[in-house]
Amino acid sequence: DKDSDRSRRFLLKLSGEAFSGGGGLGVDPDVVHKVAREIASVVRDGAEIAVVIGGGNFFRGAELQQRGMDRARSDYMGMLGTVMNCLALQDFLEKEGIDSRVQTAITMGQVAEPYIPLRAIRHLEKGRVVIFGAGMGMPYFSTDTTAAQRALEINAELMLMGKNGVDGVYDSDPAHNSAAVKFDALEYGEVITRDLKVADMTAITLCRDNKLPILVFELLAEGNIARAVKGEKIGTLVSN
Ligand code: UDP
Repeated sequence: DKDSDRSRRFLLKLSGEAFSGGGGLGVDPDVVHKVAREIASVVRDGAEIAVVIGGGNFFRGAELQQRGMDRARSDYMGMLGTVMNCLALQDFLEKEGIDSRVQTAITMGQVAEPYIPLRAIRHLEKGRVVIFGAGMGMPYFSTDTTAAQRALEINAELMLMGKNGVDGVYDSDPAHNSAAVKFDALEYGEVITRDLKVADMTAITLCRDNKLPILVFELLAEGNIARAVKGEKIGTLVSN
């Protein structure tokens, strides 16, 4: 039937930190290449993939603010950083033979299209990956919140949150507590009341209010994006 023929659509959120390949400023092309290969393989299998990339490998507004800069201006620097990550991903997707379009929330016609939701959906339907850059274009927001908003606006069924070095949500930080316990599934409310590190609260409440499920998983484990798209039991699923 028509419904089962329709491609499944996902929003993949990548942290900027993952792109730096183990800390530091900038982009590690090997990491971006690896992520691009994984995205290319699920797109070839028919999934529609939209991507939001963070910018933590360049600037975080809140950190620059602590060091004396104006918050809004440093947030704009943060947003501009995300665009460099977008271009790097676009480049490696192209090398994999996958068409993509970068759409930015801050207009910069020479490097990207402006954010036009209906056009983004058309690209996805044609098998192109759409990469959303510059966050929401507004200071005081995060790329997690952007990912939730874009997922909702393009009608994605699931937000895939690829994490760097952790394979799901734990009751305490597994890097500092060897007894930390991983959750297979969580409700939005638990994430909020227990202050679990999934995404910032603005993003979580947006997902909760609109019933957008979130899968938190280890991004760089080989084959994980494909597993997430196929609905295999990896990571932690946040829903209600
Ligand atoms: N940012 C913003 N508005 C947005 C999205 C991002 O001001 O809609 C800024 C903010 O300063 C943030 C930075 O861009 O710290 C980088 O994004 P984020 O911290 O979400 O990146 P990630 O931690 O996912 O790498």
